[in-house]
Amino acid sequence: LFAGETEFLKGVVAMDGMPPDDRLEVCFAGRSNVGKSSLINALTGRKALARASNTPGRTQEINFFTCADSHYLVDLPGYGFAKAPVKTVEKWQRLLKAYLSGRATLRRAFVLIDSRHGVKEVDEEIMTLLDKSAVTFQVVLTKADKVKEVERLQVIEQVRAKISKHPAAYPELIVTSSEKGWGVDVLRAVIATLV
Ligand code: GDP
Repeated sequence: LFAGETEFLKGVVAMDGMPPDDRLEVCFAGRSNVGKSSLINALTGRKALARASNTPGRTQEINFFTCADSHYLVDLPGYGFAKAPVKTVEKWQRLLKAYLSGRATLRRAFVLIDSRHGVKEVDEEIMTLLDKSAVTFQVVLTKADKVKEVERLQVIEQVRAKISKHPAAYPELIVTSSEKGWGVDVLRAVIATLV
């Protein structure tokens, strides 16, 4: 599934720029700095694939990657910038809402949560938006190598309690570390069942 080339297709700032929904896709959401680029790179086996989304000016774009010519990986802009201007946040929320509610080929959203921080208010907001948009989401814990076993178990418990209140949540979490390669094969296998 990921053996073929994964290529950056385009960054989209408005619904009319979306590529045709002619194939299935999954998307990745998370607070900025959660480790989203690193995970997408680990997933696709490419070192700098998702870096484009981190360059200034690209951060508010929805980035589409074509994977093995058969499906899209969609990198949603990182949220929760402390200093993002209100106008920017509003514009981003509009685009995100339009994307989530208007994309029939979207099979699942992966909501990335930093193992050190757990679910924050902004993550809850995204989860609520996913509920409203009827997009099933699955939590992926990132940077698991940064916490001790006991903290990892605590964060898993916190996440489980939080997502139990969200009708669109898929109950199983995926624990990952891009640094160590943990859980990347699990995530890849889950995606393979979806697309
Ligand atoms: P993004 O803003 O969500 O795309 O986050 P990045 O992928 O750019 O990662 C943010 C920071 O966290 C970088 O300094 C990464 O090196 C670091 N990072 C990402 N994933 C991991 C991980 O699995 N383990 C550790 N220890 N650090 C990570």
